[in-house]
Amino acid sequence: MMVKEKNRENMKNRENMKNRENMKNRENYHSIIIIGAGPAGISTALQLQREGTSYLLIGEEIGGCVKNAFLIENLITFPQGISGKKLCEIFTEIIQNYRLNFKQLRVNRIDFLQNLFQIETRYGKFQSSYLVLATGSQPKKLDVAGESEGFKQQKLYYEIKNINSTQKRIAIIGSGDVAFDYALNLVQKGNEVIILVRSSKIRAISRLQNLVGEKNNIKIQLNFPISNISLKNEQIRIFSSSAKHLPYFEVDLIIVAIGRIPNSFLIEKYLKTQKNELFQSRRLFLIGDLVHPQYRQISLSMGDGIKTAMELCKSELIK
Ligand SMILES: Cc1cc2nc3c(=O)[nH]c(=O)nc-3n(C[C@H](O)[C@H](O)[C@H](O)COP(=O)(O)OP(=O)(O)OC[C@H]3O[C@@H](n4cnc5c(N)ncnc54)[C@H](O)[C@@H]3O)c2cc1C
Repeated sequence: MMVKEKNRENMKNRENMKNRENMKNRENYHSIIIIGAGPAGISTALQLQREGTSYLLIGEEIGGCVKNAFLIENLITFPQGISGKKLCEIFTEIIQNYRLNFKQLRVNRIDFLQNLFQIETRYGKFQSSYLVLATGSQPKKLDVAGESEGFKQQKLYYEIKNINSTQKRIAIIGSGDVAFDYALNLVQKGNEVIILVRSSKIRAISRLQNLVGEKNNIKIQLNFPISNISLKNEQIRIFSSSAKHLPYFEVDLIIVAIGRIPNSFLIEKYLKTQKNELFQSRRLFLIGDLVHPQYRQISLSMGDGIKTAMELCKSELIK
C-alpha cells in the first residue's frame, strides 16, 4: 500500500515537472515578470537586462504617476529640475535604447498554478517563476453625492495627465503636494485655480506652498469640507456644509487630489490566500509606491527596483 502510494506521488511529481518544463519552453515564459512600467518597474527591468536575465516588463503606460508631475526637483541628476512629461520621454528612450523586453498591456488577472505565475492580459497569457508587482498607487475618492456623475460626465478627474483645457475655472480638492503640483501645472496652461482645503491645515511642502503663493491665478479656500457636488447643464457647483460665508463654488472642472492608496487590486483579488507563502519563498516581490504609500518618491521606487533585481539575480533558480 505504502509503495503504491509512493509510486503514485512520484508519478504526479514527474508530471508536474514535465508540465513546468513544457511551460518554460513556451515563448510566453520568462523567469521574471514585472507588472507596472513606472519608475519602480522600469528600474527593475533595466537592472535585469544588464544582468542578462530573462524577464518581461508589462505595463499599461510608461512612466506611471510621473506623467502627472509638474516640476520634479528632488532628483539630483537633474540640477534644473525636470517636468514629469520630460522624464516620461526619457523613460521611453531608455526602454528603446536598451531594448528592454516591454509589452504595453494591462494585466487583468494573475494566478499561481503549477508552480508558475500565470499573467492574463487581453492579448494573451504569460508565465513566470517570479513576479514583481510595481503597480503603484491610485487616487482616493471623495465619497460625496455627485462625484461619480461628475466623473462619468468628464467634469471631475482624479489625475490631470489627460487634461488639456485652457481658460477654465478649475477647483482642486486637497491640500497635499499633489494638489499643489496640479495647481501649478493647470495655471501654466492658462486656467484659473481654486484649491479647496477641508481644514485650516495645508499639508504640501513649503517649496510648493511658496510657488503657489507667487501665482495670482491660484486661490486657496481653507475650512471647506465638501458635502456634495451638483451638475446642471454646464454648471458645476461644489457645496460645503460647514462653510460660513460661501455656500458653494461654481467651476468648469473639478480635480480630486485628496491622497492615494496602494494599487493592490491584482494581489488582493487573485493571490489573497497564497501571497504570504509566495513572499516567504521569495517568489513574489512588491515594490515602489505599492508598498510604501507614505513615502511616494521617484528615487525610492527606482532604488526598490534595482535592489529587487539584484536580489533576484542572486537566486540560484534564475541562473
Ligand atoms: C502630481 C504628482 C507630482 C509628483 N511629484 C514628485 C516629485 O516631485 N518627486 C518625486 O520623487 N515624486 C513625485 N511624485 C511621486 C512619484 O510620481 C511616484 O512616487 C512614483 O511615480 C512611483 O513610482 P512607481 O513605479 O512605484 O508607481 P507608479 O508611478 O504609480 O507606476 C505604476 C504603474 O503600474 C501600472 N499598472 C497598475 N496596474 C496595472 C495593471 N493591472 N496592468 C499593467 N500596468 C499596471 C500603472 O499604469 C503605472 O504606470 C509625484 C506624483 C504626483 C501624482
